[in-house]
Amino acid sequence: SQRTLVLVKPDGVARGLTGQILARIEAKGYTLTRLELMTPTREILEQHYEEHRGKPFFEPLVQFMLSGPVVAAVAEGDRVIEGFRSLAGATEPTTAAPGTIRGDLGRDWGEKVQKNLVHGSDSPESAEREIGIWFA
Ligand code: ATP
Repeated sequence: SQRTLVLVKPDGVARGLTGQILARIEAKGYTLTRLELMTPTREILEQHYEEHRGKPFFEPLVQFMLSGPVVAAVAEGDRVIEGFRSLAGATEPTTAAPGTIRGDLGRDWGEKVQKNLVHGSDSPESAEREIGIWFA
């Protein structure tokens, strides 16, 4: 088995999509083993997004993530990292495939940040690192 960090970003929480998003994760057969609604600190976000420090979208991204509560969760199951990323769809919601969370529920809003509803860890190493940041 494997685990991944899932975030429902502020756009997903504000639009009332948390339940639908978590339901898709459960419907695919993964188990939620941690779940918390929280307003992250800048420290958490700077650690979480450390690979993007210095990129033009870094500060807008941090500001967006500070704009309202997020839901942090740990999902578990065989190959859940790939499985959740497949469920989430491509980064850009406008063109993410229908059937995915981003493709079905997201679009562009004419802003600098891609408001794309969810985050999922991209490797087992990232998952353990990120779970340690959000569920310290
Ligand atoms: P994916 O799951 O598609 O890889 P991600 O969340 O892992 O998405 P990252 O490349 O780690 O994507 O980027 C983190 C976040 O930063 C994205 O989810 C998105 O909100 C934002 N982002 C990434 N690239 C851009 C960009 N070029 N312009 C604006 N925002 C961006």
